[in-house]
Amino acid sequence: MSKHLYGDYSTPEKFLQCFMAGLIKRNPGEVEFHQAVKEVAESVVPFMFEHKEYFSNLILERMTEPDRSVTFRVCWEDDQGNVHVNRGYRVQFNNAIGPYKGGLRFHPSVNLSILKFLGFEQQFKNSLTTLPMGAGKGGSDFNPKGKSNREIMRFCQAYMTELSKHIGENMDVPAGDIGVGAREISYMFGQYKRINDNFVGVLTGKGISFGGSLIRTEATGFGTVYFTQHMLNHIGDSIKGKRCVISGSGNVAQYAAKKIIELGGKVVALSDSGGYILDEDGIDSEKLEYVIDLKTNKRGRIEEYAQKYGVPFIANKRPWEVKCDLAFPCATQNELELEDAQILVKNGVMLVAEGANMPSTIDAIHYFKEHKVLFAPAKAANAGGVAISGLEMTQNSMRISWTSEEVDQRLQDIMKSIHDQCLKYGKNGEVVDYLKGANIAGFVKVADAMLAYGVV
Ligand code: NDP
Repeated sequence: MSKHLYGDYSTPEKFLQCFMAGLIKRNPGEVEFHQAVKEVAESVVPFMFEHKEYFSNLILERMTEPDRSVTFRVCWEDDQGNVHVNRGYRVQFNNAIGPYKGGLRFHPSVNLSILKFLGFEQQFKNSLTTLPMGAGKGGSDFNPKGKSNREIMRFCQAYMTELSKHIGENMDVPAGDIGVGAREISYMFGQYKRINDNFVGVLTGKGISFGGSLIRTEATGFGTVYFTQHMLNHIGDSIKGKRCVISGSGNVAQYAAKKIIELGGKVVALSDSGGYILDEDGIDSEKLEYVIDLKTNKRGRIEEYAQKYGVPFIANKRPWEVKCDLAFPCATQNELELEDAQILVKNGVMLVAEGANMPSTIDAIHYFKEHKVLFAPAKAANAGGVAISGLEMTQNSMRISWTSEEVDQRLQDIMKSIHDQCLKYGKNGEVVDYLKGANIAGFVKVADAMLAYGVV
């Protein structure tokens, strides 16, 4: 066995232990980043022991060190003329298979650990889409809640004034994430264009009239449900008639709900950071339109749904205590812990599909595996969003726009291909380990490109 940064290791288990110890030492306090790496390394290290070229070229060590992380001051003025300072970030993780690509998150919890976990995960996800996209992630600890439209605009402009020095349509193409939707992308795109006088596809998630792709808004949620459908079809089942619980009520949750309803499933719960609503009659298309308007335009609270439709609102709780067949965590990281997994399993859940990034803790994932719950990891299940971002880049480069039907068909094809890749690396007899399959399939493509470049 060859020499590694942290010593000689004879078994995958020993290597994993020492590798993680080294990673934690080099990235102190970055707990979300440690968690994301561990979840991948548990699948990839045993595979590397069977493919020594990855091991001897320190590919995993290289894939856990971002190409660069930029932080900067974002200074802006509120409506009363008070000055505020926030911290802006862009982590450019890896461009082995294409320009850096990944969303921007505006949320008070944003820090380097969270962006590094997201950027790290993005490498595997973007690789799985089959499109030529590297990985990055960025954002700010700015809290958009309660801010006026003008304040959001001024913040976005200030953020882009600095970010514009670090991105480019062939170099790094950011998109949206929590707290960054069509409104914020439009303000940032306008500012980039003003600074550079250059109309290029430097951001994705743009408005349709200025280079956006149809279906981008729906893509992450739709893609998660398409992936779920493939998993169920693989065991001769379907979404029809299934009782579903979704956390969150933002972009991903809304369009996951929409597709589930279209396919005949019954959505009984949605949430936000204040709690969850329980609608035993099921959220139908009309009620969902109300939610989309409430959260996207009125920027209200999910509690208002309970008042409008006379259903219970359970404050300060997550929806995992609600009995369901299918669970879709679509809000944020670490929102589904071991105790939640235990309740879900006790209530008979058969499948968990991650619409959000890393919503399940490692303990929860292990528990699902032990109890034979089908588990769709985020990097596979929610890759539809970045896939359509990739197709937005293609349309911008070609200066054309595809129809909704064309884009939706491509999304379906991509989600099928991701499912196939998971089967290729994760199938063991009748059982499919989707986490292992997604991790290894995502890893191989990036790792092979890095090997081809030599020692860089
Ligand atoms: P949105 O900002 O549109 O919605 C986020 C939702 O999650 C809101 O309902 C929000 O509640 C809730 N939420 C956020 N933080 C917390 C928290 N700490 N505790 C409880 N609830 C919380 O974001 P998106 O829907 O775009 O993103 C959701 C997840 O999906 C994220 O993990 C994101 O990284 C991931 N994702 C998004 C993609 C996209 O295309 N948008 C692509 C791939 C992954 P509230 O309104 O109260 O804040």
